[in-house]
Amino acid sequence: MDKKVNILDIEFHNTTKEEMTNILVERIEADEKTFVVTANPEIVMYANEHHDYRQTLQAADYIVPDGIGIIIGAKLLKQPLQERIAGFDLMKDLLHVAHEKSLRVFFLGAKKHVIVKAIDNISKQYPNMNIVGYHHGYFDLIDESVRDMVKAANPDLVFVALGYPKQELWIRGNLPIFEKGVFMGVGGSFDVWAGEVKRAPVFWRKLNLEWLYRLIKQPSRWKRMLFLPRFIFNVMKKRA
Ligand code: UDP
Repeated sequence: MDKKVNILDIEFHNTTKEEMTNILVERIEADEKTFVVTANPEIVMYANEHHDYRQTLQAADYIVPDGIGIIIGAKLLKQPLQERIAGFDLMKDLLHVAHEKSLRVFFLGAKKHVIVKAIDNISKQYPNMNIVGYHHGYFDLIDESVRDMVKAANPDLVFVALGYPKQELWIRGNLPIFEKGVFMGVGGSFDVWAGEVKRAPVFWRKLNLEWLYRLIKQPSRWKRMLFLPRFIFNVMKKRA
């Protein structure tokens, strides 16, 4: 099976969440530095309109489809992707492995009180994980002291929750100084771990309606939805 599906110049890795987790665990065990992006239609559109960001995504080792819109886009291009891999779910599976294997994990991002609460909840759920550090996400992106702090912690896994495009730009910009570690942007996931934002119940997720649930809960997100018709339109243009 073809492992890559190109959607508007972004190469998605065609895999399952389980397989992706296994690949990442193998890379951690081999000390292979890895940059993972979980991309939704909004991110793909942004990359199409911002050259720098597109190059940043193209530097990733793996880009996985986060969002039903990407799955629909792949189907329209007649190159179906195996499944949606939500950033939050992939993070959860990696935390589970981190707990089992006592991996070293660093958390970067979100507001001060959010990160503290998230770490508290995560460490209760995965007590064997080795939390080697954390820092909130409101710092100057060029501030080297933050990346030096992450480096000194020598993590196996770094979750970066600055929202896009910041999180991917931070990872790409700082990756060269690291020797190992899986780095992954996880958007608003820390807010969910902290209990500040609720994830859609399973029923909604099964119906691929997580986006609708989030829209109802946070109506201010409606503007973000405007990306979807434009994304589908652009994919259709490629198909034609
Ligand atoms: N954030 C941050 N620093 C910033 C901007 C945002 O740490 O300079 C955090 C914010 O507190 C939130 C996350 O990044 O925890 C962004 O969440 P959002 O839902 O906007 O991201 P998405 O999942 O849509 O990428």
